[in-house]
Amino acid sequence: MMLQWIDSHCHLDAPEFSVDRADVFKRAQDVGVKWCVMPAVQAKDFESLQRLAKLFHQPYALGIHPLYVPHAQAEDLLALESCIQAALAVNQAGELSDPRLVAVGEIGLDFFVPALCEPSMREKQMFFYQAQLKLAQKYHLPVILHVRKSADQLLSGLRRCAVRGGIAHAFNGSEQQAQQFINLGFALGFGGAMTFERALQLRHLASTLPLAAIVLETDAPDMPPHWLYRTHSQRQAEGLSQGRNEPCELPQIAAVLAQLRGDSVASVATATLRNTQRVLPRLSLNPTVSPYVC
Ligand SMILES: [Zn+2]
Repeated sequence: MMLQWIDSHCHLDAPEFSVDRADVFKRAQDVGVKWCVMPAVQAKDFESLQRLAKLFHQPYALGIHPLYVPHAQAEDLLALESCIQAALAVNQAGELSDPRLVAVGEIGLDFFVPALCEPSMREKQMFFYQAQLKLAQKYHLPVILHVRKSADQLLSGLRRCAVRGGIAHAFNGSEQQAQQFINLGFALGFGGAMTFERALQLRHLASTLPLAAIVLETDAPDMPPHWLYRTHSQRQAEGLSQGRNEPCELPQIAAVLAQLRGDSVASVATATLRNTQRVLPRLSLNPTVSPYVC
């Protein structure tokens, strides 16, 4: 039987997929990637993301991504809250209006991009991060975190405003930081970056963390695994952009994880499905979305 996978972080609504989105989704389904958790990046995409989630029967998250904070406004937080309220509403028959909403995300802090490190932008990022944590807390939702040179600041935000865990996506911090996220109820997302042989620290983490702490992700269309990655000189010479990542790459990324850990691919599939469901409990609300029955 074909193994079943969940891509815990995939921007299937991104413009990079506008020409062939249905084919991309089908390619993923064909290799056993049955579920893609689709996080939002900005308020103006919420509605189209919700439509896509409904069309493909896929889980999604709503939030304002730190890279989109420069253009975000306070009203976007109101839009976020009203979308969350509408999705969580229960009708008179006791049915959930939208069981596909599983988290607040993608939210977080990015202290890698120089323009986002300016003092005023650091402050604006902190404001949006904290406000969105508060919404996650208020509505008992987990969060999907963007962590780039910001693990300590994200952790202190979580200590000030406790939420019901979630995923530290594309984690690339230290063992101590990993442990602190785990202690706060988080799983760590591993994807394409782990497939590069030079990613020694990341590979060490991926092979030594308890399997129960790991979820898999592609972050498609970004973060291509090494077999899709084009170097700067290749891009220059061939006039091409960076290779587009797709959710159908997940089983191959998982095979790298299994090899690094000395685990079987099947045990990685089972564990990462179960882990994703543990940290995103609303996945189990909708049978068409539920990947794993405990
Ligand atoms: Zn992302």
